[in-house]
This record gives sequence, C-alpha cells and structure tokens, in this order.
Amino acid sequence: MTALPDFGVLHAPEHWRTVDFISDLHLKPEEPATFEAWARYMAHPHADAVFILGDLFEAWVGDDAAAPGSFEARCGQVLDGCPAELAFMRGNRDFLVGGDFLARHGVRDLAADPLVLDLGAQRIVLSHGDLLCTADTAYQQFRLQVRSTDWQRAFLARPLAERQAIARQMREHSEARHAATAPADYAQASDELARRWLLHAGACTLIHGHTHQPADHALGLDGQGHALTRVVLSDWHLDARTRRAEVLRLTASGELRRRSPDAPQ
Ligand code: MN
Repeated sequence: MTALPDFGVLHAPEHWRTVDFISDLHLKPEEPATFEAWARYMAHPHADAVFILGDLFEAWVGDDAAAPGSFEARCGQVLDGCPAELAFMRGNRDFLVGGDFLARHGVRDLAADPLVLDLGAQRIVLSHGDLLCTADTAYQQFRLQVRSTDWQRAFLARPLAERQAIARQMREHSEARHAATAPADYAQASDELARRWLLHAGACTLIHGHTHQPADHALGLDGQGHALTRVVLSDWHLDARTRRAEVLRLTASGELRRRSPDAPQ
C-alpha cells in the first residue's frame, strides 16, 4: 500500500459563501473558443472564490514565457480582471507555473496536492487528480522526476525556445501514447486511494480533475455512516465539434452543483 502524501490545509475566509472549481481547460492559442469562454466566465463568476485545480494551461515552460503580447500574458490579464478571489493548484501540464506568476496576478498558490479545504462546516479534499492514477506507474515515476527541485532547476535554466521545443515533443509523445491506449487505461483514478484520502482527512467529498471523465462516484460510507463521494470535474473543450465546459459550485451549506460557465448568478 502506498504511503499517503502530505495534505495541505486551507481554512476559507468566513465571508466566502460560494466557491467555484474548474480544471483542465488546457488553454492554448490554437483553441480560441475555449479561451474566450473562460475569459467571459472569469469576468463575472458570481462566486466569492474560483479554485483552478490544474491544467489551466496546455503547457507552461516557465514564467518568462508570459512576456508582453504572449498568449500567457493574455491569460494573466484575464486573471487580473476576475472579481473573485483566485486559487491555483498545479496540474501535470502546468506544474511549472511559478509563484512569481501567481503573485503577480493576485492568485493564491495552493502549493499542496492533495489539499483539505475547510469552508464553514464543510471539509473537502481537493486534488488535480493525477496522483490518484496509481495504475499508471510509468507516469507516477515521471511525475516524481519532474516535480523534483533539481529537475525543475535544470529545465528552467535552458533557453526559452529550447524549453518550448521540449514541451512540444513531450506533448506529441503523450498524444501518441494516449492514441494507442484506451482512456480507461491511462487515466483511471483509484477509488480505493480516494477513499483512503477521505478517511485520512476526515472529509466526505473529494473534488478533482485530470481524467476528463466528469461524474460523481459513490465510495461507500465512513465509520460514522457518512457517504463518501469522489466528484470529477469536467474538462473544457469548445471547438466546432465539441462543446463541453462546466463549473462545479460549492455553497457554504454544502451543496455541490454543476453549472454552465455562462449561467447567470
Ligand atoms: Mn491533468
């Protein structure tokens, strides 16, 4: 049995009544409709806080990529214009987003994954979700490597153009791998591990993204008879063929609701 990771804890400010969760937008210049939908939502989220649980960006090769006029800088402007408080957890595509970029745009850095969020009487576990895909041992090894300080320091020391080329290669490699494998094989979150996380944290609900398979999974009961649930966020993908985008809203009374990003209030 794998050891449990360290859990971070965040106590929500008392005035927060509604918190929105989004993830897996995979923003990139080649998919302007997704960027526009995100920008529209961020201008009027009608929530006290928006938590971005990873893979906001399709790729992030260093904060220096967010130079004036770049796509990354335009995303930064959207963050600047959002009236809600913002929090960001790194995903497997954008784990190199730096504390500097987040601080510059007033975004809370949720350095820990998994993270326990206390909102009023609600206790929820948040994660990007890739840590739960334990069956993909090759990925878990890769993750350990690229999350190490040494690897990141060496990568970020390379010239920007070189880092962008490496990111392109890695993406092509990953797409080829995914094309050769059924989705269930490479992005299957472990219900067993999710249950252990919830019991460890004393929480009933886990919210995560990453698998692009939005659904609510019942994980049985805890020792007190409370139902445990794993709630998977939707990816955002808006182009000519696909129109999929969703916000998960949590209220202080504990209600969780899936909404269209265009929904009023
Ligand atoms: Mn992911």
